[in-house]
Amino acid sequence: MNLNLKHTYIDNLPADANLENTRRQVKNACFSFVSPKQTKKPEIIHVSHEMMHALGIDDGLNKTPQFTNVFTGNEVLEGTKPFAMCYGGHQFGHWAGQLGDGRAINLFEIEHESKQWMVQLKGAGETPYSRSADGLAVLRSSIREYLCSEAMHHLGIPTTRALSLALSGDEVLRDMLYDGNPEYEKGAIVSRISPSFLRFGSYEIFAARQDLKTMKTLVDFTIKNHFQHLGTPSKSTYINFFSEVAQRTLDMIIHWQRVGFVHGVMNTDNMSILGLTIDYGPYGWLEGFDFGWTPNTTDREHKRYRYGNQPNIGLWNLYQLANALYPLVEEAEPFETNLERYKTDFEKKSLGMMRSKLGLQIESEGDEKLIESLEEVLSGSETDMTIFFRLLANFKKGNAKDGIKLIHDAFYTSEDITGTLAQEWQDWFDRYDFRLAKEKLSDEERKAKMNGVNPKYVLRNYMAQLAIDDANNGNYELIDELFNLLKQPYSEQPENEKWFAKRPEWARDKVGCSMLSCSS
Ligand code: AMP
Ligand code: MG
Repeated sequence: MNLNLKHTYIDNLPADANLENTRRQVKNACFSFVSPKQTKKPEIIHVSHEMMHALGIDDGLNKTPQFTNVFTGNEVLEGTKPFAMCYGGHQFGHWAGQLGDGRAINLFEIEHESKQWMVQLKGAGETPYSRSADGLAVLRSSIREYLCSEAMHHLGIPTTRALSLALSGDEVLRDMLYDGNPEYEKGAIVSRISPSFLRFGSYEIFAARQDLKTMKTLVDFTIKNHFQHLGTPSKSTYINFFSEVAQRTLDMIIHWQRVGFVHGVMNTDNMSILGLTIDYGPYGWLEGFDFGWTPNTTDREHKRYRYGNQPNIGLWNLYQLANALYPLVEEAEPFETNLERYKTDFEKKSLGMMRSKLGLQIESEGDEKLIESLEEVLSGSETDMTIFFRLLANFKKGNAKDGIKLIHDAFYTSEDITGTLAQEWQDWFDRYDFRLAKEKLSDEERKAKMNGVNPKYVLRNYMAQLAIDDANNGNYELIDELFNLLKQPYSEQPENEKWFAKRPEWARDKVGCSMLSCSS
């Protein structure tokens, strides 16, 4: 394999001097060298050709034994030194100390077409950061990460990417429901790709340990390598750095809100410093529109990471990052200014996003109210978010009376659209129609714009589960079908109309469809 390898991270950041693979606290170092685990019978079951091209890997190479071995950790390429990063994090609102790459191993960095990429395996064995766990991943969670990260990219949402999905050939013991019934599942390894996997927690750990020296080294490194446009590191550069991280984080979350994506575990160790969606675990997609929904069973009681709370959590996490960076600046005010700006920008951007979903080009005063009342009717009846917005694009000015009929297929139960609720819906359509009269675009033009921001196809929770069930039986066709479907989420795909459908009733309360645990 002829790759253009770089060593930016291992050459410029302090390494853990201890080379043993024992689980421990790793001090004064950003990473530890590790060796991926040899697996029993590695087998690649899917690759992203797009990512192969992005990395400069020639077509056809994915069929070679070397590709299989490298991207499952069974062969370490000459001239490379795999490593796991040290980081900490706030989990569910509490400082959790050192976490680190417990089952992620960075293989190498590649530069191709002036872009830098880190190639990382998830599930390739223990590291010093594995704590009490095994460093492995199972097929079900790996399929979910592999499909969803590529789907998010094609939705235009900042995200880490994926190159390959493989079986390790080993069995992995998991208590999926945390109910004392562990079972063996197929082990799997995803190769994930990103310019960087640095997280908020990567900085927090050094602040918590009052290791200002390592923290400064890491922040300066981050700016030089990933935020070059900010210039030479200095106090004001640190503030600009924080400001940009805050903006990117907000932009990412606004995108999540737009498509109904719920991350599920927005702990600070799962917040990318580049504002990318990272660590696909118990995430889910809204079916019925509901601000209170969370897919994560571990979060069922407090619903900290529910759909409607994601923007607040983004801000809470940024406070933690600000606290970590503070010692480099020693002034609170500039951080506070940026955190305040997040709130005002959120209001503005969220409104802009909702306007775009409704096909409103101009800004009109009553828009907030129009949007609020829509959110009320949407939540009042169980209404499929994706289908609703897609059908709404067919609305014709002057035809408010046909509104309910137009979106009929978005309702989960038809009783939902009788009585007072029907009246509320009708009132809303009347207001929407009245508002559209101010717009200049024709019905067709508005529809085209709306269809560019309201996806037709998303990775519904039950779709991923169907692919998982098949894959557990050795059939990978559905993985390929969904992978291809989700490459064009905004396009009409007449041959794929069956995926433009509400969640089937059997999936309403099924594990893996509406309930997901962190066990992966
Ligand atoms: P997550 O909630 O998946 O982001 O994981 C939180 C922390 O637990 C991270 O430090 C992970 O590396 C670690 N972790 C999760 N699963 C495993 C596993 N099977 N083996 C080792 N570490 C793990
Ligand atoms: Mg994580």
